[in-house]
This record gives sequence, structure tokens and C-alpha cells, in this order.
Amino acid sequence: MSDGRRELILEELGLAPCWVRRELLTADPAAVETTPVIAAPPPSAAIDAAIDSVIAPTQTLGGRPSRIAQVMPAEKPADVQATQAVAVSTEPDKRALAIAQLDWPALQAEVTACTACSLCKSRSKTVFGVGKPDADWLVVGEAPGAEEDRQGEPFVGQAGKLLDAMLASVDRSRQENVFILNTLKCRPPQNRNPHPDELALCAPFLHRQVELIKPKVIFAVGRFAVQTLLGREASIASLRGKLHDYRGTPVVVSYHPAYLLRNMSDKYKAWQDLVMANRTLEKHKD
Ligand code: URA
Repeated sequence: MSDGRRELILEELGLAPCWVRRELLTADPAAVETTPVIAAPPPSAAIDAAIDSVIAPTQTLGGRPSRIAQVMPAEKPADVQATQAVAVSTEPDKRALAIAQLDWPALQAEVTACTACSLCKSRSKTVFGVGKPDADWLVVGEAPGAEEDRQGEPFVGQAGKLLDAMLASVDRSRQENVFILNTLKCRPPQNRNPHPDELALCAPFLHRQVELIKPKVIFAVGRFAVQTLLGREASIASLRGKLHDYRGTPVVVSYHPAYLLRNMSDKYKAWQDLVMANRTLEKHKD
């Protein structure tokens, strides 16, 4: 990526002027004088430590080879459990079992035709996802907004532009090496929060998509994505910065781009999360 493009992207993320890699600083002392260096916490050491602390090369989770030694702690706050029982049902019902058998085209057709909850009445288009179905990096968002509902593609509004810029800052894009999908495939009216039954009915689609994509890392943004994947209702702030596990796949939790648009000062944390996801992926390369 050209320096100019990188600078533009980082500016969009609220991270310009550019950080300078430590080795460049040592290799080229002139760069130190000419390039302003941001004092914001460079993520490298802390992130490496966090990743290393949870990866053990020999661990196996759920029958699938995994390098994650530490899955999410078992304890859940009592107030979370009631919601979770609905939102993240583990009861295998017939519909979920049938969805779990579908191949990619059949799954797409099933989503398009879905009438399982009342969101089908108000939607214009279902939003299945976009990107490379064999991508090693999967972004899981929340639910389509107005523009996504019109176009049938996730993250095409303002938050989507920021997400694209964030991904580009780590050389990732929906055109090349990322798959982007939402937890809910239909837009809730007026962008209201998803209801627990809607999340529960849509979850089998998400589970099957992840199973078929087989990503090496999941970047989960926003609390409904996290809630559905991890079965946790804790705050994003309390979950980010650690690696989590979704059925053997490492999950990095981060702020939703729509939140970041309103909270500029947290953008550097999202950058740290992106770097963590990238590093996790590098460490999981076969
Ligand atoms: N927010 C999301 O979570 N998903 C979209 O597709 C758009 C906005």
C-alpha cells in the first residue's frame, strides 16, 4: 500500500500522523526527525503478550485442532444467563439442524426466503454477507441498516466506509481477503435493537456461515455479534484486548464502527484490535 493511501486511511481512523515501526526508527534515524511519532500506546508488545498468553500449539477444542488454550471463562454474571437462554439457544431444534446441513448456495437461498421472524415483513432485502467465502478473516457485525436493507450488502453506509478504512489499514478488504456478515440478516425497523427471539432464529445461519467459511480469525464488532458468538452480554470494553473462542476459532472483540463514528477517541483501541486480529492470524497460519 502506498504511504499516501496509508496516511489517508489512518487519518480516517483518527490515527494520523503515522506511527512508525520501531525497526524503521532504528534503521533510518532520519525518519525520526522527519516523521512525527504518536505517543498513543503502540499495540505491539501488549497485543503479542495477550495473544501468546492464550495460544498453545497443541490444544484441541471440540474435536477441531485449535491453538487456543484458554476459552472464555465459564463464569457468567447471573443477569446474563436469562437473556442467553433465548438469544444463544443451544437446543438443537429441527430448523437449526436442517440449516446446519446446507451448502453455501442452499444457505444463501434459505436466507433469502426466510420468514422465521417478523422482520421478513418489513425488510426490502435480506443481507447474507459479502466477500470471499473462503476468507481467513471474518467480520461479524450486528444487523443491516437502511442502506444495507436497500442494497442487500452489509456495511455500505457510513459505518461501512469506516469499516472498509479500518480493514484497509491492515491490508484487508471485502474484495480480496475478508468476509463480512451480520448476526441478523434482516433490518430491524427504525434500526431498533434486535429482539432475543430474532437473534435466536437467525443464529443458525450465522453458525453455518462460520462453519462453511472456516475463518482463522473472527473480528466481532458490537454487542449483539459478541452476544451471539460468545454467549456473553458483557461490555465490549471488558471483552476487548483478549482472545476469545468460538467453536475453536479465535475471536477478537472490538467496537462497532457506528460507535466509533460517535466516539472518535476510541478509534485507536479499534486499531489495536485490528492489529491483534492480524497477529492472531499470522500465528495461526499453518
Ligand atoms: N451495522 C451493522 O452491524 N451491519 C451493517 O451491515 C451495517 C451497520
